[in-house]
Amino acid sequence: LSTLKIAIGAMELTKKCVRDVMTDIDDVFMLSEDRVLNAETMTRISDSGYTRIPVYEGNNRNKVKNLLYVSDLALIGKDNNITVKAVARFNKRRLRIVDETMPLTALMDEFKMGDYHLAMVAKATDVKKHHHGKFVDDTMDSFIMKSMKLVEATMLPHDASEEHPITLVGLVTLEDITEELLQSE
Ligand code: ATP
Ligand code: ATP
Repeated sequence: LSTLKIAIGAMELTKKCVRDVMTDIDDVFMLSEDRVLNAETMTRISDSGYTRIPVYEGNNRNKVKNLLYVSDLALIGKDNNITVKAVARFNKRRLRIVDETMPLTALMDEFKMGDYHLAMVAKATDVKKHHHGKFVDDTMDSFIMKSMKLVEATMLPHDASEEHPITLVGLVTLEDITEELLQSE
């Protein structure tokens, strides 16, 4: 019975997109890059329970530039007043931004190929506008070509995103996809 459930889950997965399974932006635990990694911040991070934390510029939660990994904090003393920015820039965790309409199967392929399992999710129209119509073509059948296109479409160069600010709507991880697969009725 559970095998059947997974099979049904897999079929359901093909109909869904990132927006259907992502964590809403209002529930995403993020930090400003200006924040000082003092005892209070460290406690908040550890209380959040997350291992990867989006880092935004100033007080603009739409300008997520980096990821902070909890493991990056292992060697930092609690009282040397280092900022999130310093740690995030030092570790250079790249950040992928995907479109909310990206099919889940496509994101799964990307997670499978890539070395990362978390992405920020942007509002559909914003990413399209940003890439001047150069957007994912779902009818393309070659797996490689599709993946290459996705990578191209979802990499956001920092300078360009200054000109066309995007609206972030969520965060998605591999776990959101596997959960969808396993808990489907
Ligand atoms: P790990 O399991 O590798 O320790 P994690 O528990 O931090 O990582 P995941 O297991 O990948 O995160 O995801 C669990 C859920 O938490 C998913 O629904 C995901 O969308 C959500 N999530 C992950 N990181 C954050 C974050 N920084 N803020 C809010 N939600 C998050
Ligand atoms: P997990 O297996 O818990 O989901 P992960 O695979 O996302 O973790 P790590 O295994 O700790 O992350 O890191 C692998 C490499 O992938 C790191 O060098 C990191 O910089 C990179 N990476 C992580 N997240 C992303 C992302 N969203 N976009 C691009 N590269 C990333």
